[in-house]
Amino acid sequence: MSLLEVKNLKKSFGDNVVLEDISFNVEKGEVLSIIGPSGSGKSTLLRCITKLETEDSGIIDFDGTFGLVFQNFNLFPHHSLMKNITNAPLRVQKRDKEEVFAHARDLLKKMDLEDKEDAYPSELSGGQQQRVSIARALAMNPDILFFDEPTSALDPELTGEILQVIKDLAAEHMTMVIVTHEMNFARNVSDDIIFMDGGVIVEQGTPEEVFSSDNKRMKDFLGKFY
Ligand code: ADP
Ligand code: MG
Repeated sequence: MSLLEVKNLKKSFGDNVVLEDISFNVEKGEVLSIIGPSGSGKSTLLRCITKLETEDSGIIDFDGTFGLVFQNFNLFPHHSLMKNITNAPLRVQKRDKEEVFAHARDLLKKMDLEDKEDAYPSELSGGQQQRVSIARALAMNPDILFFDEPTSALDPELTGEILQVIKDLAAEHMTMVIVTHEMNFARNVSDDIIFMDGGVIVEQGTPEEVFSSDNKRMKDFLGKFY
């Protein structure tokens, strides 16, 4: 059985049909990238799966824990990094304080931020803030990590460092669903790719299949990057 199954998902905002008949599965250990033009429904899809939006119809079958990493980091500005990372494991998951703090320190170390646990988000670079938000997501011991354009707010040199963190997680077989405009990254790191346009899945398959597609919308989209 798949870890996540989405079947015939539909979502509108008023008269605006934003997602139509979206179906796909994510297997344990898989990396799925979702690409497509702005406004094609990628964020709404992630928001429906992660319960930040309610779908109109269709099935979302997932009963694990998820972590979510946003474009703009969404850290609590008035909390230290440690508090940002430990808040949900302590308050939502009600885990043991010592275990949660030890886990958080391991994650900060993994993200190269071991000396920063008492710092505040505003004292960090964008790349460092995004690494904290990845640590915060991992602190929940998620079954799936969702990323919504994790590098879109970053300068190119900081983008590379975040993409490397995600590649390292893929090498550890973390299950991930990644909305991204980084085409070379998507091609290299993904087991499967979904190309969305106008609220529907236009192409779906391995990177080789999707990037060699003859579909006009797919080719027009890729033409903007290559
Ligand atoms: P993408 O992430 O691919 O850029 P979005 O999912 O953000 O696309 O948006 C898809 C469409 O849904 C757009 O037309 C957008 O204006 C609309 N939309 C997204 N969120 C809302 C909302 N909360 N209320 C109304 N319309 C929305
Ligand atoms: Mg979006």
